[in-house]
Amino acid sequence: MATKQQELHPSVVKFLSNSPKKMLINGEFVSAKSGKTFDTVNPATGDVIVKVCEADKEDIDLAVKAARKAFEGEWKKVTPYQREMLLNKLADLIEKNAEELAQLETLDNGKPISESKAVDVPASVQHFRYYAGWATKIHGETLPVSVGNFHAYTLREPVGVVGQIIPWNFPLLMATWKIAVAVACGNCVVLKPAEQTPLTALRLGELVMEAGFPPGVINICPGFGETAGAALSSHMDVDKVAFTGEYITGRKIVQASVGNLKRVSLELGGKSPNIVFTDGDMEGALRGCMGSVFFNQGQVCCAGTRLFIEKKIYEDFVSKLTDKVKKIRVGMGLDPNTQMGPLVSDDQLKRVTGYLEAGKKEGAKPTCGGDRVKEGDLSKGYFVQPTVFADVNNNMKIAREEIFGPVVSAIPFKDVEDVVFQGNDTTYGLAAGIWTNDLKKAHKVAKAIKAGTVWVNCYNCFDPCVPFGGFKQSGYGREGGLHALELYTQPKSVWVSLD
Ligand code: NAP
Ligand code: MG
Repeated sequence: MATKQQELHPSVVKFLSNSPKKMLINGEFVSAKSGKTFDTVNPATGDVIVKVCEADKEDIDLAVKAARKAFEGEWKKVTPYQREMLLNKLADLIEKNAEELAQLETLDNGKPISESKAVDVPASVQHFRYYAGWATKIHGETLPVSVGNFHAYTLREPVGVVGQIIPWNFPLLMATWKIAVAVACGNCVVLKPAEQTPLTALRLGELVMEAGFPPGVINICPGFGETAGAALSSHMDVDKVAFTGEYITGRKIVQASVGNLKRVSLELGGKSPNIVFTDGDMEGALRGCMGSVFFNQGQVCCAGTRLFIEKKIYEDFVSKLTDKVKKIRVGMGLDPNTQMGPLVSDDQLKRVTGYLEAGKKEGAKPTCGGDRVKEGDLSKGYFVQPTVFADVNNNMKIAREEIFGPVVSAIPFKDVEDVVFQGNDTTYGLAAGIWTNDLKKAHKVAKAIKAGTVWVNCYNCFDPCVPFGGFKQSGYGREGGLHALELYTQPKSVWVSLD
């Protein structure tokens, strides 16, 4: 397939000409102590984009020391209003460099440029501005104690040095979700981006320095999970670790945290039910299902991958959905007409095609897709066909495990009781969708579903003021809104005797 690709922005070319890309420690871009580098690959072609310096234990230790020094020194002198201004400056710089950041994101991750421009970059700007506003509004309280003559109050203090480990599906946005709230609350951070997608985090590091953050407040160290990630989560001088990724890695993070009993928050995977009742707006539900599954190549933690359809409309709905899915334009991310790009890596391609085979073996029927893209230019990249599986039951492997690709499993249900039981019959609890025009039914099901977010007649709606996170094995702690401030601050109670 011939594709019309966007020209690379001159600043992207300049950024990439500087190889290997160095990590940000203590306000300086430095090489790894070991001298090691790794390749970051363009998933649309399989070609190496650039080499990146590989952080290991020693580099993480230097970054933690820098963060500690900043936290106990320079950063303490910075007022809440100055923190607000620094975060707003960073948001302005992201906005100013939006085109470059969007292209870098698409190159490194594969996602369509239209999405990098419309979602990843502007949502990052909005998120930084939202938490900039909070910096001046975090405070303790005075308390009316009854046990004697005291003036009792709380101070709300930052936790300290925070280690943050993120995945590759929204590289810039995940970095933003982690850094903005931590810094607004007065913490210092060491961020480890995913090895597959380190570029926008490193460019963000340049903008952090341009904004004027003191050295050591934000450190960015790309490297591998088993080395750099493990060093960060087990470090004895890290006060908190915030992690987004798979539940299996989440368990390792918790185990690694016990040495100094650091605080842990976990944003893990999902297998979210998206429930279509007969009485809903069918066209809206179809559009919602498309977005809920195929956005970002299906590499979305809250994707509505278990599509529960009421029996009476099951055949009709699956057939209409299939017609729409067949029309998705799969292509190079840098082509502005592309609606779905490649998966992020060869590993991810193997994982997803493995699930496609498993689904067929268990008797699920692909009504479209079902394989990788094997012809033309796209065969060199990690492209997979958008796939609808019909005749799925909730016990099949494809309905139980997170595929993290453009694959939806259509499962029939009888009534409210049946779908609430099946919807909750999963180890995950991240999100759910409900499509109905019956108000009572909508609220009843929203209450009965065990998930951190429920969308009614919509899907994938996000705002920085709304908390996001999981029930059950989808994790604990919330990002966004007031709730995230709780994770990054701690109350100190002060008693003053007035006698
Ligand atoms: P992953 O394999 O768990 O990796 C996530 C991060 O953890 C990466 O930076 C990884 O480094 C690092 N890591 C790996 N092993 C580690 C270890 N032993 N110690 C410390 N860090 C380690 O997840 P992924 O495959 O990148 O991302 C997909 C998963 O993320 C899915 O399950 C998805 O649902 C979840 N997710 C959840 C949310 C949410 O908000 N709930 C949002 C987005 C994604 P390397 O890259 O070097 O392996
Ligand atoms: Mg990984």
